[in-house]
Amino acid sequence: MIVVSGIQPTGKPHLGNYLGAIRNYVKLQDEAHSQGGKCLIFLADLHALSMPHVPQELHAATLEMVATLVACGLDPARTVLFNQAQVPAHAELQWLLQGTARMGWLNRMTQWKDKAGKNREGQSAALFTYPVLQAADVLLYQATHVPVGDDQKQHLELARDIAQKFNNDFGSEDAPVFTLPEPYIPEAAARIMSLRDGSRKMSKSEPSDMSRINLSDTPDEMAQKVKKAKTDPEPLPSEMAGLEGRAEALNLVTIYSALDGSTPEAVLAEFGGQGFGHFKPVLAEKLVEVLGPIRDRFVELKEDRESLDAILARGAMQAREIGRPTLDAAYQALGLVRG
Ligand code: ATP
Ligand code: MG
Repeated sequence: MIVVSGIQPTGKPHLGNYLGAIRNYVKLQDEAHSQGGKCLIFLADLHALSMPHVPQELHAATLEMVATLVACGLDPARTVLFNQAQVPAHAELQWLLQGTARMGWLNRMTQWKDKAGKNREGQSAALFTYPVLQAADVLLYQATHVPVGDDQKQHLELARDIAQKFNNDFGSEDAPVFTLPEPYIPEAAARIMSLRDGSRKMSKSEPSDMSRINLSDTPDEMAQKVKKAKTDPEPLPSEMAGLEGRAEALNLVTIYSALDGSTPEAVLAEFGGQGFGHFKPVLAEKLVEVLGPIRDRFVELKEDRESLDAILARGAMQAREIGRPTLDAAYQALGLVRG
């Protein structure tokens, strides 16, 4: 089992990132470790170049994301934690795969269409070829399991197509250069919605800070945001059917259950009949209970530049080592002379 996943270091990590992604990384780290496998989690800083960005902000956000991941429970002794920029093999393999990826394949990517909109001519070349770098990210390590959200499934399919074509064109049947990666969709990845609008997901790029719980919020800020969260005047129902058409209420129940490790049904069984005046303080308390210790670790680690640098340096060294045989095999398969 080789788990590989990346996360972009842009913006402030929030509750949705934690419950939807980071917490699963921690589970996968434990799973891979207990099976004698490997878990590699990287900061996709090279990917951030595909959109306009402010260099100082990218720099700070990269270090903050490392602090966040470790604060959330990723253990640098068991997970290979690094940033792409310190492992040149990502950029190298990406170029080697550019000869295999087809324009038509990239043109069909819905993320490209969504992000480019009507202004394709004005986009960076990196935004268009981004999925090739993503393919390199996972193929470099012969990943078997790639945790992805719904939005990234198509890119993983593309990575499989690229690997397959490369193996066909340049590998031999008994010695394929790349392993075809499988998407791994964790069963319990909660989708958390905005606190201001239950029809939109909680998101880093949403302008209103009141719409999300940041992992760096103080307990008071968390409580304030929950208190101000949009709801309706009805009490909580005792059954799920009673949440129909009540997106905000459903979201708060989902958050509570995800933090508590229970189910929305169980939460309703306990709190059904009670109004938000009662439920919101209980939810705020639960948030502080779970996120408080994470926040404390984050705040401490964020200031410890030496430790952060050491974590990334060590992770990068391990990643370079794990990726080397595959990168060498790709160069060789393509007939490139390297002394
Ligand atoms: P942006 O608004 O810039 O796209 P984001 O909040 O969507 O930021 P990403 O960096 O795109 O965050 O996502 C990081 C990870 O967190 C991904 O695995 C994504 O699926 C997950 N994630 C993001 N938002 C949520 C959410 N509201 N609920 C659950 N998971 C989420
Ligand atoms: Mg996103």
